[in-house]
Amino acid sequence: MKRYFLHVVVALAFALCATAQTNPAADLIIQNARVWAVDPSQPEAQAVAILGDRIVAVGSNQQVELWRGAHTSVVDAGGRRLMPGFNDAHVHFVDGGSQLDNVELNDATSPQEFARRIRERAAKTATGSWLLGGDWDETKWSPAEPPTKELIDAATPNTPVAVNRYDGHMVLANSLALKLAGITAQTPDPDGGVIVHDKNGNPTGALKDAAQDMLFKAIPPLTHDQRRHAIERALSHAASLGVTSVQNMNPDYADIAVYNELLNEGKLTTRIYAAPLITQVDDQVRIGIRRAFGGPYLRIGAVKAYADGSLGSATAYFFEPFSDQPGNRGILSDEMHPISLMHDRMMRADAAGLQICTHAIGDAGISAILDIYAEIEKQHGNRDRRWRIEHAQHMAAKDFDRFTQLHVIASVQPYHAIDDGRWAERRIGRDRATRTYAFRTFLDHGVRLALGTDWNVAPLNPMLTLYAAATRATLDGKNPNGWFPEQKLTIKEAIEAYTVGSAYAEFQENEKGSITPGKLADMVLLSGDILNIDPIKIRDVKVLKTWVGGKLTYDAGAASR
Ligand SMILES: [Zn+2]
Repeated sequence: MKRYFLHVVVALAFALCATAQTNPAADLIIQNARVWAVDPSQPEAQAVAILGDRIVAVGSNQQVELWRGAHTSVVDAGGRRLMPGFNDAHVHFVDGGSQLDNVELNDATSPQEFARRIRERAAKTATGSWLLGGDWDETKWSPAEPPTKELIDAATPNTPVAVNRYDGHMVLANSLALKLAGITAQTPDPDGGVIVHDKNGNPTGALKDAAQDMLFKAIPPLTHDQRRHAIERALSHAASLGVTSVQNMNPDYADIAVYNELLNEGKLTTRIYAAPLITQVDDQVRIGIRRAFGGPYLRIGAVKAYADGSLGSATAYFFEPFSDQPGNRGILSDEMHPISLMHDRMMRADAAGLQICTHAIGDAGISAILDIYAEIEKQHGNRDRRWRIEHAQHMAAKDFDRFTQLHVIASVQPYHAIDDGRWAERRIGRDRATRTYAFRTFLDHGVRLALGTDWNVAPLNPMLTLYAAATRATLDGKNPNGWFPEQKLTIKEAIEAYTVGSAYAEFQENEKGSITPGKLADMVLLSGDILNIDPIKIRDVKVLKTWVGGKLTYDAGAASR
């Protein structure tokens, strides 16, 4: 009898060991959720198990329950929508973080309000320190004229001011800032830039595109502590919005150093792919790194180039003049003077295996970049490069097919469509507007989309981007059924582009972008079911919890307590 009992115990112990080996206990189980996995092999589920930083099981509550052990923490999602975290394919992370502390002018609806906010901020700014920030948008005023230095000079005699237009393609300087930058009535326009003058030939303080650099050079760089503070602000902002990965366009090297510092301290709570300016391409070439070099939290190996300016600043480069500015068809950026300079830099980047992401907005700017991409493919042969055009706003009809043939990713920002949609048709006319923010046409051509915001140009909140993609309802309320509604995305298409699509755009689609066993456990729990509500209500949905690599990085419940 005794012997028999021992036998059973040994057998039982073996059995326990065997299950323990094939099915170790999860660290975290999220159950009672409505999972939208963005994975066609298992689109919907109830529960997810996480071990370490990876998803290990996705299925019904019962299936995932098998992963529960004595030390597994369990979150009851209460029937709410659980999705992969958002991957913002185009942000200016440090600018965004700094902006959270700077003067905010985006919702100033008159020049008087604009001036009042600067006056108030100047009163609180230490003498000699720069007053920065902005995101002003003169299209919200009447008449829609860009501001001039006269508006703010009297209130800022001892405070240099540099406040940017929301699109980053124009900045307003006051007289002191112009003086510090050495800009006078005699200063010629730089290549790729415009110094705006008044009737008497004096600078108004407004500087467009490359002319902005003359001013920026005079601004002292962020100190290490200021930079770290801005990045910490940006990280917690991203976590609170369910943004678990960002692709950081034109960071300073010092930004990457701070990301690395935070990574070592275990404080980097958003995954970052950094694409420094192509003007610095030889640094990455010399080191010998290639695209997506690094680890799950921090990668480099891409370059960011600029083909042209922006639509709002009338510097995007078009084949035909602007409908409201005959004689002006925009400008190519300084990097395109001459075009062979861009061509040579891109050839070097491609030969080194670096990924190329190019800002191009006007139809002729986009076309010029596609010409260079085609030329590179001809000379270097076919391979999986994942070239990107950032913004890809105003397409020539002939170029959709070229996107397809060259496998170019359209890295787009739907919020710009509902913002610019207020006035874009006046600027470029009906015909060109039909191919503007043409998300549906891209998909119809088999072009891959990556979604983002261009934060701080637009808000980082993914709900506003999804709302914009699904409704195309312009911010002025004048197109409730959508501005060029045939270009709307379905909410599922928009989510896919914002998760797997963006992950593909950084060569990480096997690591993240869906709730799939084996992938990184980057997830977000939402207050509303964005797949099943009126798209108009998506903008009101909030993030309840955010996990990055299985770690809770934001908890609305904790935040409100
Ligand atoms: Zn940008």
